[in-house]
Amino acid sequence: MNYKEKYSRLGKSLRSSLIRELLKYASIPNAISFGGGVPDPETFPRRELSQIAAEVIEKEYAYVLQYSTTEGDPELAKQMINLLERLYGFDNLNEDNIMFTTGSQQALELVGKIFLDEDSIAIVEDPFYLGAASAFRMRNAKFIPIPLEDDGMNVDLLEKRLHELDNKGLIPKVKFIYVIPNFHNPAGVTVSFEKRKKIIELAEKYDLLILEDDPYGLLRFEGEHIPSFFKLAERGRVVLLNTFSKILAPGLRIGAVLGDKEIIRKFVLAKQGTDLCSSALTQRIAARYLERYDLVQQIAPTIKLYKSKKDVMMKAFDEYFSKINGIKWINPHGGLFTWVTLPEGFDTMEMFEIAKKKLVFYIPGQAFTPDDRVSPSMRMSFCLPSHEKIIEGVKRLSEVIVEYGKS
Ligand code: PMP
Repeated sequence: MNYKEKYSRLGKSLRSSLIRELLKYASIPNAISFGGGVPDPETFPRRELSQIAAEVIEKEYAYVLQYSTTEGDPELAKQMINLLERLYGFDNLNEDNIMFTTGSQQALELVGKIFLDEDSIAIVEDPFYLGAASAFRMRNAKFIPIPLEDDGMNVDLLEKRLHELDNKGLIPKVKFIYVIPNFHNPAGVTVSFEKRKKIIELAEKYDLLILEDDPYGLLRFEGEHIPSFFKLAERGRVVLLNTFSKILAPGLRIGAVLGDKEIIRKFVLAKQGTDLCSSALTQRIAARYLERYDLVQQIAPTIKLYKSKKDVMMKAFDEYFSKINGIKWINPHGGLFTWVTLPEGFDTMEMFEIAKKKLVFYIPGQAFTPDDRVSPSMRMSFCLPSHEKIIEGVKRLSEVIVEYGKS
């Protein structure tokens, strides 16, 4: 059958992501991969979760094995609101301000449905989180990329771009500013307090929504917590996306959207057409987990583990990369990623051919450019390989860079 004629325009445009293609290589024996962005499975509280799972299936089967409401589990909403109040000082939140999603990836997809038409504009960071890029691309929206600096997006350029859009009468087409506030995927950077204030000021000036996507905020290894956009801005200005993927387990597939109740209502309506509801079972497991354990205490060993791996990687960079002229990297204060930038003229996609031979893998920066531009940067994750493999992998990568530099 000729399927091609059956596909919609969107169906025709769907392609396998570059990351998926590249990650295939990581499973070659003896390969060292800094490519994947998934948590270390040893950090999953499997005993606690299996015990709770057995209990809730036994005792709460009528709820957990049934369809749930689209909004999600009210018990989890209660626990989540308590947690956010305690950790971040959020106040005046109630169940109308929260909806659970099937991972925050679903929230990104719903954002696309709710806010973006073909002629809409989204202000995005450059580099751009790939999952958001694929969700927003489905809607054929236009992106205005704002380069990231070590402390968040270049706010002078953001101001300039907004001013230009205003002069052209295009501000009504701008639907939101998308930001990852902490330990950016892929860039590793955190938005400073000053830049948060400035971005909020600009959003207020032009009456724009801020979409704050914060999967990594709780995974801070060092430095002080910086208040979130959601806390700093007036209520209603920010839609906050959260997820349990990096602080509990991604297999539970639980994300949360927080915002003004009118917007949350729209999310609920959009989600109904997507999957009716998220899993009642995994939401209730998470709710009981939060009720029984102190999440902050529970993730302390995870943070310690990732910090030690990050420190090993930074030390290996000092040893092997500092000899390479013009190379730069981010020392992240949390999360899973660092971002390495090679001198002008390097193309980390082309360099990947040499990396394949030396069995060391990363994600070329081009995968994260909003416009598929050649990039001298690469994303490296430190959370999965052992300390020894991190050192060996960085050594191999330094050889790859030197060899590519000569060619
Ligand atoms: N946003 C960002 C910035 C991410 O890095 C991720 C996970 N890689 C997600 C959203 C999606 O996470 P999940 O669907 O597992 O909640």
